[in-house]
Amino acid sequence: MSESLSTDESLSGPVAVPVSGPLSGPEPKARSLAGRAAALDAEDELAGLRDLFTLDDDTVYLDGNSLGALPRHVAGRLQDVISRQWGELRIRSWTEGGWWTAPERIGDRIAPLVGAGQGRIVVGDSTSVNVFKAVVAAVRLAESADPARDEILVDATTFPTDGYIARSAARMTGRRIVPVDPAELSGALGPRTAVALVNHVDFRTGRLHDLPGITAAAHAAGALVVWDLCHSAGALPVGLDEHGVDLAVGCTYKYLNGGPGSPAFLYVAERHQAAFDSPLPGWNAHTDPFAMAQDFAAADGAVRGRVGTPDILSMLALEAALDVWEGVRVEAVRAKSLALTDFFLECVAAYAPAGRVSSMTPAAHAERGSQVALRCAEAPAVMAELISRGVIGDLRRPDVLRFGFTPLYVGFADAERAARVLGEVLAEVPRQPAGEQRDRGV
Ligand SMILES: *Cc1c(COP(=O)(O)O)cnc(C)c1O
Repeated sequence: MSESLSTDESLSGPVAVPVSGPLSGPEPKARSLAGRAAALDAEDELAGLRDLFTLDDDTVYLDGNSLGALPRHVAGRLQDVISRQWGELRIRSWTEGGWWTAPERIGDRIAPLVGAGQGRIVVGDSTSVNVFKAVVAAVRLAESADPARDEILVDATTFPTDGYIARSAARMTGRRIVPVDPAELSGALGPRTAVALVNHVDFRTGRLHDLPGITAAAHAAGALVVWDLCHSAGALPVGLDEHGVDLAVGCTYKYLNGGPGSPAFLYVAERHQAAFDSPLPGWNAHTDPFAMAQDFAAADGAVRGRVGTPDILSMLALEAALDVWEGVRVEAVRAKSLALTDFFLECVAAYAPAGRVSSMTPAAHAERGSQVALRCAEAPAVMAELISRGVIGDLRRPDVLRFGFTPLYVGFADAERAARVLGEVLAEVPRQPAGEQRDRGV
């Protein structure tokens, strides 16, 4: 029957789609999938964590890959930061309240979630700014070993900001940019490569790139890699130390639920710390900031990735938000994420009218992040209608429906409901005539 979900992945094998019997109508199908969802939720060891978040039962929130939900206790903690720490202690909070050391302290809280030891991560600034620090510092590290390395390889499907920043970094450092499809990256590395900048998970398709393999290939070619973990930190095990990653950056407002615009993080491998030469050596990166010395002397460790005065309100909201990870294993989060995205794809295959959506997200677990991206010619109208019916995903123009699965607060019943509503919406939104489908503009 027509219920299999077509997939753009020619090499990854079919999406697992054990669909209900060919003669079952929509009601038994919905009953059986809803029943499966209830059983899966009942045995989910992470199910109880949802209560830690402010969410409403009318809504299925599948946009945590853009803005993570609010952990309930953050508002109270921030109230204390504002009223007591700022309002009463005022400047004493820099020392007594631990404000000054927050960037490295919170970096150490993030570290176990991405497989990093203590003292290797510092929090602050945006991801974009940290991409700049990391790429320029990586070029400087590569240059000191071999000045002839004049190429910066950039993931051709990268989130745009990384590409913009890398191009500017290349102009500033006299390097040239080589855009490369991440699938072909290992073959593109060579004696001229200084650095490769790669997204761990593609923000559009949800494809997970091979961090251990690409890192090893870069090292074999004598190059460094900067990984952007925006869509993997808090979603899956990263293993930064284990896989010998050089430098990495990531944001904290997606799967780490730090709040809108919460500060990003920068990882510097221990072996690179002594030579890490930041292009933004602000006074917070000085070994003795309050000496107010005219000459710069870099602090030891990841702290030299700091720049200026940290954004304390956002930073302490993030610190509070990280409490939800207490006792949570990233491996358990990953297992649930894969089960959720498998189940969602199965439900979409069962509910969506034939030929209306195809999955851009790899079927193979080893190549999948924590989101499902569906290509759909009518994506703008469909997403608007989904949102009005309480299923919150997002649109990537012109034709991508994106659904993020945050295992800490999304359950299997949510996945079933989202797919069911998607099926209803697709049945109502008229199919766009062929020919107009590619012309929707940007
Ligand atoms: C979300 C995201 C960013 C965001 O950058 P900001 O500077 O925090 O706005 C950067 N890179 C990737 C891969 C992302 O997914």
